[in-house]
Amino acid sequence: MKHAVPLPVQLVDGYQSWKKDGFERQSARYSDLAENGQNPSAMVISCCDSRVQATEIFGTQSGEFFLHRNVANLVPPYAPNSDFHGTSAAVEYAVKALKVKHMIVLGHSQCGGVQACYDMCTHGVAAEQSDFEFIGHWLEMLRPAYERVGASEETSRVVEMGQQGVLGSLENLMSFPFVADAVASGALNLHGLWHDIGSGNLFAYNSGTDIFEAQ
Ligand SMILES: [Zn+2]
Repeated sequence: MKHAVPLPVQLVDGYQSWKKDGFERQSARYSDLAENGQNPSAMVISCCDSRVQATEIFGTQSGEFFLHRNVANLVPPYAPNSDFHGTSAAVEYAVKALKVKHMIVLGHSQCGGVQACYDMCTHGVAAEQSDFEFIGHWLEMLRPAYERVGASEETSRVVEMGQQGVLGSLENLMSFPFVADAVASGALNLHGLWHDIGSGNLFAYNSGTDIFEAQ
C-alpha cells in the first residue's frame, strides 16, 4: 500500500508522551486486559463528532466501554442481508459475545448529521440529490425523528430532533431479536442520553415522564 505515509510529528510526540506516562502508570492494567481479554459492562453508540468523547464524559478507562461511533449515533433497523452492517455487527458482538449489561445511545447538541437531515427534510431535498454519496441515504434513518418534532423555533426543533433520533435508535435496537430477548430477560438495559457540548450538561431519557432529564 504505497499511499500510507508517516504520521505528523505532533501525533508521534503525543503517542510517545502517552507511552511514557499514561501507559506506564497503568501498565499492569493493560497487561491484564491483554492476557484476560475485555469485559466491558456497557456498549456506547455515539456520533463520530470529535467533540463527543464518551470515555471523557464518564471518566472511563480502556476496557470499560465497547464503543461504536457513526454519523448521528444511528442504529439501523434489524435487516440481515448482504449489505455491510458495521453498526449491526457491533451491536451483535456486544450483546451475544460480550454480554454487555448496558446499551447507551449518546446524542449531542450541534450535531452536523441532525442539522443536515433537518435541512434535507425542511427543504424537501431528496437524499439522492445530495452531493454526498453515502450521508444522505444514511440520514434518511433520522426522517421519522423530524416528523415527531413538535417545537416551532428552529434551534429547539433541531435539539428535539436529535433527542428523538436517540429514541429512534433505541426503537431500532429493539427490532433486533437478540436485543429484545436480552431486554426482556433483564440481562440488558437500554439508555438514551443527550449531551450538550457547550454546557457539558448530560440529559437522560425518562420513559415515565417522556422527557430527557438533566443528570
Ligand atoms: Zn453528531
